[in-house]
Amino acid sequence: MIPKEDNTYQQYHRRVFAHHEAGHATIAYRLGRKFDHIEVIPSLTPWLIQFGGSMGHIDYIGLMYDETKRGIEALDEVLSKQLQAIIYTYAGPVAEARLEIDPNKASIMEYLDCIEKCLDMGKGAENSDYEQIEKILQGIENVKLDRVKPESFRFFDRMYDPERMMMRAISMVEKDWDAITRLAKVLIDRGRLSYDEACVVIENEDR
Ligand SMILES: [Zn+2]
Repeated sequence: MIPKEDNTYQQYHRRVFAHHEAGHATIAYRLGRKFDHIEVIPSLTPWLIQFGGSMGHIDYIGLMYDETKRGIEALDEVLSKQLQAIIYTYAGPVAEARLEIDPNKASIMEYLDCIEKCLDMGKGAENSDYEQIEKILQGIENVKLDRVKPESFRFFDRMYDPERMMMRAISMVEKDWDAITRLAKVLIDRGRLSYDEACVVIENEDR
């Protein structure tokens, strides 16, 4: 068990979770997904450790779909938003790993391993990134079986390949790494940021 007075330990975890949430928030913002707020709590309690709980949180606002779209257009919109959801869900664990490993100095395999490790930590926990992605992929698979002709399966699987989404998340996190670290820093200071406050930090390069 971790002693509560161990400040270094708490600070370390707060920093890790702040980057994780800043990763989700920055990439969600870039892809047009709104959230109500992001936050990191001050310390890890023994209860949280025991139940694999998180020190950070992002509260997304429900996905909105254009009701006027029909048929293939509507399907296309649903699927592209689901794909984006996979990307910004991956962006949390990717940002967490990016804090540990600089892909310019380490091998891509080391980096990918570290991302997998960060993602696996939530395995089995309700609403963890791992579970979210599994849920979205299952939804996409159902759409495929329901609406796609078997001869188009290959094309569909190539389009909706989770590995591709992971690579996309990695390149987006890399490109926006300055904004993510800036946002994480402000989040550590303030504990909680609304969507509008987070957007200002992401956009303001001089902070
Ligand atoms: Zn997360």
